[in-house]
Amino acid sequence: MDGLDLIEETLDPDDWAETEALSHKIVSDAVGYLRDVRERRPWQPMPAAVRQTFAEPLPHGPSQLSEVYRSVTENLMPYPMGNIHPRFWSWYMGSSNMTGALGDFLAAVQGSNLGGGNHAAALLDQQVVDWCKQMLGFPASASGTLESGGSMANIIGLTVARNVKAGVDVREFGVAAIPQPLRFYASDQVHSCHRKAMEALGLGNQALRRIPTDACLRIDIPALRLAITEDRTAGFSPACIIGTAGTVNSGAIDDLAGLATVAAEEDLWFHVDGCIGALIAIAPANRLLVSGIERADSVALDPHKWLHAPFEVGCALIRDPKSHHGTFAVTPEYLEQSPRGVAAAPWLHEYGLQTTRAFRALKVWMAIKQHGIDKFGRLIDQNIAQAHYLSGLIDAQLSLERLTPTTINIVCFSCRDGIREPAAVKALNVEIMLRLQEEGIAVLSDTTIRGKHCLRVAITNHRTRREDLALLVREIVRLQNAISNSHP
Ligand SMILES: *Cc1c(COP(=O)(O)O)cnc(C)c1O
Repeated sequence: MDGLDLIEETLDPDDWAETEALSHKIVSDAVGYLRDVRERRPWQPMPAAVRQTFAEPLPHGPSQLSEVYRSVTENLMPYPMGNIHPRFWSWYMGSSNMTGALGDFLAAVQGSNLGGGNHAAALLDQQVVDWCKQMLGFPASASGTLESGGSMANIIGLTVARNVKAGVDVREFGVAAIPQPLRFYASDQVHSCHRKAMEALGLGNQALRRIPTDACLRIDIPALRLAITEDRTAGFSPACIIGTAGTVNSGAIDDLAGLATVAAEEDLWFHVDGCIGALIAIAPANRLLVSGIERADSVALDPHKWLHAPFEVGCALIRDPKSHHGTFAVTPEYLEQSPRGVAAAPWLHEYGLQTTRAFRALKVWMAIKQHGIDKFGRLIDQNIAQAHYLSGLIDAQLSLERLTPTTINIVCFSCRDGIREPAAVKALNVEIMLRLQEEGIAVLSDTTIRGKHCLRVAITNHRTRREDLALLVREIVRLQNAISNSHP
């Protein structure tokens, strides 16, 4: 057999013209989907028949692409999580944008692997990292890496902190060789990803000391100093302070300049979890809220939150590029740089844990080029002003009670309505939250702060208008009345 009669297959279409026509349709449907998002419900439950389609077994044979796309339009697109909708305010996430979606599409079409190399996507990736430094006032000499999100960006920062402060070569000898157990410090409002990070780093959850917070839910700095002294006396090795620029519960911002000073005096690493608030540094009316962030040794920020990039993209910045590279760099024999050609550039995978890396920079880059960063800053100010507006509406309602100070774009409140018993208050809040979702009005979430259950609105949304927030308050009051009339 000479091989000439072999049939060699490819994934490329047999009929490019047909693919082109369908691609045009997909793009024009996508434009309509975003244009009309306000007309749809933020979220709706899936009928059983739709759920069933996701239980179909592995297909062995082919289908027409048009059929595959039809299934996507019928079973997937109508049932989103809802965060692109103007009245989605749950947890904490961005609301995406068309340009970013085009960026992700083009990144996939070009298909480059951002493990590194000598090509344009690698330069663009590093340009976006440089822009992140500029947004936060970080020195140009700092290093950085785009990650899947804030959780991974925090892990990058905390791993460098651990290695720098361990007192031994942790990479070579592991955490068991650390002479005195390391201690990290954060407020009791710290995001859960730090616990996961401490566990994954082999330090354990207890190595993360939660420091009490003040009346505004910011870390209590005198209590932090005391904890550090106590730990030194007890034979621990204080290693790192994690400041939070915007807590997930209430949006509280730790005194970052104060923490930077404590870290410098105590010779600790200063990491800032800026997944929510680091980008306030670009918002003219509010940027002072995060001053001090530029003094951090490492920062995690999240372009898929307040820059509204489609998921996923987070960013870790490290002031000392040597420590960063020294924590992750491994050059195996099959990944050596060459003097010329596609491997004639530093590897980007040497700044994190992934080897193959997505081209996540393009969606961020295109939207920033299109709008200019000043507009993103104004949108952040707009969301913060909207949160204060909502707080005013809530304060004007006797049946609603605000539970935390509104610093940035997160508002926490409870439906009081004459009820005192905490379990009954929680039941009422949850019922209102679920009816808002099920009736397709709005999506918000809940939390418990210092033992008090509350509803929580986080406005990280460039589509939200004040009228949406006014509607929310009207609908909550309507539901409150409907629920109390049904159980007299
Ligand atoms: C969202 C968030 C994280 C985690 O970021 P992901 O992008 O969801 O991984 C960490 N810290 C804070 C304060 C956050 O709000």
